Amino acid sequence: MSQPKFLSGDKAGIDAFLDGFDVFLFDCDGVLWSGDHMFDKVPETLEMLRSKGKRLVFVTNNSTKSRADYKKKFDKLGIPAEVDEVFGSSYSAAVYIARILKLPAPKNKVFVMGESGIEQELEAEGVPYIGGTDPSLRRDIEPEDFTNIANGSMLDPDVGIVLTGLDFHMNYLKTAIGFQYLQRGAKYLATNIDSTLPTAHSFFPGAGASSAGLEKAIGKTPVSFGKPSQAMMDAIEGKFKLNRSRTCMIGDRLNTDIQFGIDGGLGGTLAVLTGVSKKEEFLAEEAKTVPSAYVNAIGDLLG
Ligand code: PLP
Ligand code: CA
Repeated sequence: MSQPKFLSGDKAGIDAFLDGFDVFLFDCDGVLWSGDHMFDKVPETLEMLRSKGKRLVFVTNNSTKSRADYKKKFDKLGIPAEVDEVFGSSYSAAVYIARILKLPAPKNKVFVMGESGIEQELEAEGVPYIGGTDPSLRRDIEPEDFTNIANGSMLDPDVGIVLTGLDFHMNYLKTAIGFQYLQRGAKYLATNIDSTLPTAHSFFPGAGASSAGLEKAIGKTPVSFGKPSQAMMDAIEGKFKLNRSRTCMIGDRLNTDIQFGIDGGLGGTLAVLTGVSKKEEFLAEEAKTVPSAYVNAIGDLLG
């Protein structure tokens, strides 16, 4: 496998690399910011790309926030972006359910096992849902719940889809209800299945870990709509009419972002070393996921 090109400090190399693309898909956390800390020269770098006529799309696996929430985060950090440029895993799942899956009503209701970002995107796409942030499900399971779930009196007969994402209030009650819907034939979808959640302090369990109990119980894996799933790439392509050979994925995580770009047959991938993956992982002889190029930080693209 060819070695990735190191672009930091190489003005001619950067110019040649950027000239190869019309569209840049940007991962967010680990590339633009870490938590609430924005990395150096992010607005200037995006402005430089826009001034060269490049189209930017911000692609995030974070399902806890809607695109509107993300726009607020961009505004707060002073990064210019439009809602329509944001493509999150909740949005990706909602668009798939509403526009591709199109289950006939009334059996098109979604049981959400996740946070408000999922609810907001389903609502925006006109998809009915239950669960999610419903406070009545944020409690311990009681003995009578087993009876009522099993006999269906605690279940909504219109649920045709179980959708999981990172749920900070995951519990046995929701897992039991989700399990019963799946057993009764509901489709099993996930916004994303990230093993870990990077935070400013350390790694924590990610979306895949929060729904792993359900996955184990049912013995099936969900269809995922986050990176590296190509369902997300197809949805992005549908919306932005990408020419894949002129599109580059920029990200900090090899097994989600860079793999996403490689599997999608994009013209290139750029790894940024301000996040999860270390350069030793892709420079190693046995590395499986190798970006086309890498920089120490996104601001290095300014040259
Ligand atoms: N999921 C959650 C809940 C997150 O908070 C984050 C990062 O903030 C991610 C996933 C990863 O997001 P990204 O794809 O932007 O790196
Ligand atoms: Ca990231």
